[in-house]
Amino acid sequence: MIVTVVPAAGRYSNLPASGRHYPGCSAACEASPMLTLQRGNHHGLLIAPRWPSTRIQLEEEVLQRLLDAQAMLPVGLRLLLTRGFEPSHSRLGGFRRLVRRLGITLFRACYPQRRDEVDAIFGANGHDIDGRHVDVSLVLHGERLRLLPLGVFTPPRWQHRRVARYAEPVARAKRSLQHCGFELHCNPTEALQIHCDYRPR
Ligand SMILES: [Zn+2]
Repeated sequence: MIVTVVPAAGRYSNLPASGRHYPGCSAACEASPMLTLQRGNHHGLLIAPRWPSTRIQLEEEVLQRLLDAQAMLPVGLRLLLTRGFEPSHSRLGGFRRLVRRLGITLFRACYPQRRDEVDAIFGANGHDIDGRHVDVSLVLHGERLRLLPLGVFTPPRWQHRRVARYAEPVARAKRSLQHCGFELHCNPTEALQIHCDYRPR
């Protein structure tokens, strides 16, 4: 697989020609170097941008810590990065907002009793603020673990069954991420995405 890691600076037509960041980036975002990762294998960390993204942006330090977390895992269990920094003022920002609104409507119709989870599941969860919020998926012996086969619409009962089936690798991956400074999301569905926030102690 071919992988390129380039600073997010002017290499792509929809990024600003100068500087690493978009106009309007938060101060926290502008303060740290941001990397852009293409789909593929980066020193053992798998990268698979979630549609409609075609690349993932994250902070250098966060990438390093993900590599550390990967290094703690047994051969055969791999972390697969699916989401990172997604600036709301980027080309895809408006499209993501639209998809999110449709998702919320559908989720409310499917799960009227889970209204209090809508913010946790459909909120940007920090992805729009800086490159310290990532979603990670797991690959076990070459096969991607689909903990949410229907995405966030997967019924909780199915989620429990999936987690029970892969309890050991899921627990190991979560432990190693936590050990490396990542905090897991407290919403059970969001925690299966696996959404985590890098908060070094
Ligand atoms: Zn997330």
